[in-house]
Amino acid sequence: MKVLILGGTTESRALAAALATVQGIETITSLAGRVAEPTLPVGQTRIGGFGGPDALAEWLRTNAIDVVVDATHPFASNIGAHAEQATGATSIPLLVLTRPPWTAGKGDRWTSVASLPDAASAIISGSRVFLTTGRQGVHHFARVDHSWFLVRAIDPPTGPVPPHTTLLLDRGPFDIDHESTMFADHRIDLLITKNSGGEMTRAKLDAARTASVPVLMVDRPPRTGSAPMVFDVASALDWLMNRLRRAL
Ligand code: NAP
Repeated sequence: MKVLILGGTTESRALAAALATVQGIETITSLAGRVAEPTLPVGQTRIGGFGGPDALAEWLRTNAIDVVVDATHPFASNIGAHAEQATGATSIPLLVLTRPPWTAGKGDRWTSVASLPDAASAIISGSRVFLTTGRQGVHHFARVDHSWFLVRAIDPPTGPVPPHTTLLLDRGPFDIDHESTMFADHRIDLLITKNSGGEMTRAKLDAARTASVPVLMVDRPPRTGSAPMVFDVASALDWLMNRLRRAL
């Protein structure tokens, strides 16, 4: 069984590593190619966009793919929609593997916003903002000249950044001691993050709770399509193993 994993996430790498030990399954992980030095998964990889849903469908046919697992980031909405369209057109089964969203607990001071522009509009003048929404969305904050930003990303933002910005290039995981030090050293009084979920980057939320710092939490884009969805790698493995057993 030949499986295409649409990747770029910790879960996609864990799934590729788990499938590498299963006889009868061959995997190819696809990466968009956004990060200069990506953490590569075990097994075969291809890098770069396909050229839209029709080209993805053609790629699936040409490469005789039996199953597609969309394990991309929950905010990567275009590739998710393309995967739905391409697998629909080729009648190839699609599984969505996504991490559960974070949920607020006691002591959290979260405000949900629908988008990055909404988050930019909600910043109170004079704030000291810790912005961890990824380099691709920083331009939405470029006109916010009334506040200071600590922008943390893996690679530098390509577009414009707010006028009062300190850029910090770093890659998680981060622990709570590290994040609490960041909040204290930079006198952060607002955290802005996307609701990515997962353990790699959740310590900033624990640090915000401890320091009683409010959070603007950008909600996930709605997911369309009817593909089955699982929330952890073990469930994705079960689903794939069932299909493999039926195929034998
Ligand atoms: P996107 O808006 O959904 O995708 C834009 C285009 O990039 C897609 O139309 C597709 O190009 C190409 N693409 C995206 N993921 C791909 C993949 N795994 N393999 C091949 N092509 C891919 O996605 P994005 O928000 O730019 O994110 C790009 C990648 O970074 C995703 O794979 C995602 O898992 C990872 N990532 C995203 C975030 C985030 O916050 N958005 C965070 C961490 C990691 P074509 O139309 O040409 O096929």
